[in-house]
Amino acid sequence: MTVTALGLPQRRHSQGRRAAANAEPVYAEDPGLIDRFGRVVRDLRVSVTDRCNLRCTYCMPADGLDWLDNDAVLTTGEFVRIIAVAVRDLGVRSVRFTGGEPLLRRDLEAIVAGVAALYPRPEIALTTNGVGLRHRIDGLVAAGLDRINVSLDTVDPERFARITRRARLTDVVDGLAAARRAGLGTIKVNAVVPDRQDLARLPELARFCLDHGYQLRVIEQMPLDADHRWNRTQMVTADDILDALRSEFTLVDDDRPRGSAPADTWMVPGHHTPGGEPARIGVIASITRPFCGDCDRTRLTADGMIRNCLFADSETDLRPILRSGARTSEETDAAITAAWRANTWAKAAGHGVNDPGFHQPDRPMSAIGG
Ligand code: SAM
Ligand code: SF4
Repeated sequence: MTVTALGLPQRRHSQGRRAAANAEPVYAEDPGLIDRFGRVVRDLRVSVTDRCNLRCTYCMPADGLDWLDNDAVLTTGEFVRIIAVAVRDLGVRSVRFTGGEPLLRRDLEAIVAGVAALYPRPEIALTTNGVGLRHRIDGLVAAGLDRINVSLDTVDPERFARITRRARLTDVVDGLAAARRAGLGTIKVNAVVPDRQDLARLPELARFCLDHGYQLRVIEQMPLDADHRWNRTQMVTADDILDALRSEFTLVDDDRPRGSAPADTWMVPGHHTPGGEPARIGVIASITRPFCGDCDRTRLTADGMIRNCLFADSETDLRPILRSGARTSEETDAAITAAWRANTWAKAAGHGVNDPGFHQPDRPMSAIGG
């Protein structure tokens, strides 16, 4: 990787120039958010709520968590305001809404519409557990949603209910079908394999995805569960996942470059997407094959904290800047920009999960946004 020598991060001019209608967006060459290792941030993950209607064992305790107070959580306008700065002044090109469960926000369509109106218009994606999606997808697509990932670990109803502690499999399957009807392109299914016994069920999930034209991406479980039960010696690795998939499918190395995408992908001969391309399956091996060197992500939590990594041990609080009332609008934008640049500059080289001194972050996955 190229290491770029840089001084202290400073506010630069606006990243985008408005071009003629329908023209490709014009981006400034100047990278907005850059870290000490030369990585440039382009992708923003926004957790719009820490609450959830499922209780996945690898994420949340059975009784839920101490949710954020309502007044701690950013409003519709605050989210759009911060994302506007990220897009206009800091070079962010894609925004993914997540949570907690983002569909629990009744104003998600309004937030999406606000972001879709920005220039340069970022790509807008959503990660959801799919419960209730069938009632929301048309409104979200109308508001500007471009892409969706639905989390689904198994199509076995009993096992689904055990993993999520809720019997909602039919809702998720219906949500996926509704996303297809709404005309979204590649629909991705995110799966965690919580236990070794689940490996035997993985081909069944893969077949479901291939039959319906969804792209399965299997994620190695990370030490971000609120119960702190993650155990390295028990974890299901990418190799275990690939062995389980190969027991039923031929996987051929993908010919497409991976870029900053977290998933390694394989083509599955004999299967095609609804668009006629070769079907693919991905594995996100965050633990056994970390991809931190290519990371282009930054995160905003529901309570306005910037995190430069899922595993960051510090955060930058944007709420005092946003809510101080003592600044002009321009000064507020400048302060957000400076704070975000400094936060990114301090990003560690890697997540450190495999380092001897690793300690799990205080925030669980549901309060960071996966
Ligand atoms: N509730 C939404 C959902 O489940 O899609 C969005 C938030 S959830 C935290 C985002 C993604 O993180 C999901 O795909 C989920 O499977 C994944 N996830 C949660 N806990 C995880 C863990 N400990 N390790 C790896 N992935 C995890
Ligand atoms: Fe909720 Fe998503 Fe966590 Fe499951 S993984 S408990 S759906 S936030």
